[in-house]
Amino acid sequence: MCDGCGQVASAEHIARRLQRLEWTTRYRPVHINTLFLGAFSPRDQKDFLYAPGEEFQGEAGLLLNAVGISAAGKAADAVHAEFQRSGFFLTHVLECPMEGDGASQAEVQAALKARLPAVATRIRRSLKPKRVMAVADALTAVVEDIVRLDLGCPVQLDYGKPFRLESSAGENGLERLREALGSAARD
Ligand SMILES: [Zn+2]
Repeated sequence: MCDGCGQVASAEHIARRLQRLEWTTRYRPVHINTLFLGAFSPRDQKDFLYAPGEEFQGEAGLLLNAVGISAAGKAADAVHAEFQRSGFFLTHVLECPMEGDGASQAEVQAALKARLPAVATRIRRSLKPKRVMAVADALTAVVEDIVRLDLGCPVQLDYGKPFRLESSAGENGLERLREALGSAARD
């Protein structure tokens, strides 16, 4: 069983988790202002924010765009350092991707739910952010469970749902996310 996600894990799964942990730990702020909480680590390394490659795609690219950090023409570690200096940190309820293809929505929800107590303990005792911002659509199914957790800090949501990192037509969730970040920076 993997410590980071609760799934039955191969040696390769554990090795990849340790690698992600090593990349991530380097850019963890001493004092975390805003902890972005995703659902699970992306499967593709290019989508993983703290990966050393210079491509920020998927979740990584969307999150950087949402917080207003441009990766254009910068080395990855400069981008990571900027994110860190802003007091931002990203973690996931499942610190690994879901194993296997085509997990049903119910399976995903069950896997997320099962991890929440461990995540709450980690946030409260170790990460100690000023606030948590839920930022993944997949967390919608467990959002009521998240707000009931004792995290030792407030959880920010967008009208009771996780913030969306992608803007879609007729929707200004991204703007509300930036507003929420701006008001936190003034605290
Ligand atoms: Zn794992």
